[in-house]
Amino acid sequence: MKIHEYQGKEILRQFGVPTPRGKACFSVDEAVLAAQDLGATVWVVKAQIHAGGRGKGGGVKVARSLEEVRLAAEQILGMQLVTHQTGHEGQRVRRLLVEEGAQIAREFYLGMVIDRDAQRVALLASSEGGMEIEEVAMHSPEKIHTLRIDPLAGLRADEAAQVARQIGIPEASVAGTVIVLQGLYRAFVEKEAMLAEINPLVLTADGHVLALDAKFNFDSNALFRHPEIVAFRDLDEEDPAEIEASKFDLSYISLDGDIACLVNGAGLAMATMDIIKLYGGNPANFLDVGGGASREKVTEAFKLMLKNPNLKAILVNIFGGIMKCDVIAEGIVAAVREVHLNVPLVVRLEGTNVELGKMILAESGLPIISASDMAEAAEKVVAAARGN
Ligand code: ADP
Ligand code: MG
Repeated sequence: MKIHEYQGKEILRQFGVPTPRGKACFSVDEAVLAAQDLGATVWVVKAQIHAGGRGKGGGVKVARSLEEVRLAAEQILGMQLVTHQTGHEGQRVRRLLVEEGAQIAREFYLGMVIDRDAQRVALLASSEGGMEIEEVAMHSPEKIHTLRIDPLAGLRADEAAQVARQIGIPEASVAGTVIVLQGLYRAFVEKEAMLAEINPLVLTADGHVLALDAKFNFDSNALFRHPEIVAFRDLDEEDPAEIEASKFDLSYISLDGDIACLVNGAGLAMATMDIIKLYGGNPANFLDVGGGASREKVTEAFKLMLKNPNLKAILVNIFGGIMKCDVIAEGIVAAVREVHLNVPLVVRLEGTNVELGKMILAESGLPIISASDMAEAAEKVVAAARGN
């Protein structure tokens, strides 16, 4: 689960990481009042969306008077902000962060992710702040320093100081950077994040280190332990179909193709999308109904797929291991009767009670195209989507 920059900064402050003073705002007037309250001479008005690259897209503006704060807020609030992370349609800006402007001397990069091979949290640090770390990794990988943190010892002060020196933090600011690094690590572990980034971490003209940006992504499987993180959820930033899916415990991701697929098991769902591609089609979604999908779940899954205006055909690919094919066939028949199916439906069943399952489908009298293996199913669904 992602959160906004201003929420990320709240968490960072709780763990002792310094950030500029700022306030989240929902209207232009609120933004001007916030700027007045902050009492700075330079402010930065920042679009709050769940995507990076806002600066380049025109979503971060410096203001030197309250009038300029008003202008910037008017420009940014309500804009359709396009960045390399939003896709071409962009994301509508509904919230702003107004904060005091920092006097930046240098910008650095700090990031934390889980290194599954090492079974540790990896700290990435670089002297190339403000840039995307993927770019740095491509063009000057030697400028990224990685430290895999011992989970028992935590991030030790001497290790953190060494990282600070490696990226070129001047000696006088090393102690401040150690506080930032250790705070970021504790926030990452205690809040069960999967990714945390401070980009840029800045060194100010007077030698202070400040987190100027904050990005977090939390492990959704751990959210039941963190109601305070769940409270940060902003449904406006999420795909409506994915929100609907999460209510029924379906793993669903919207994609931009026109062939919907309903599959049991994440691996099989990935393979199904691959084979649709192989036969020249484009998947409209990833959808894993899980091992023990009930009839209700299958019905909800059909409703979700049918909401997609681009939909041309549906492929159901089920391997009945834990789930029996006759049960899933009954689920499909019931779901199709309940929803208004207006596109061709190809079904491939395999596994326990497959003959019974196929019989249920055949005897239902519904216009279901059946297939006996994945290749045949993919070929048939791609042809059906093209109207053949
Ligand atoms: P994004 O990564 O989405 O572009 P950032 O929060 O990193 O957004 O802001 C982009 C750039 O704007 C930063 O690299 C920094 O140079 C500048 N900036 C952001 N916040 C401030 C601030 N409070 N004071 C001064 N400059 C800022
Ligand atoms: Mg940034």
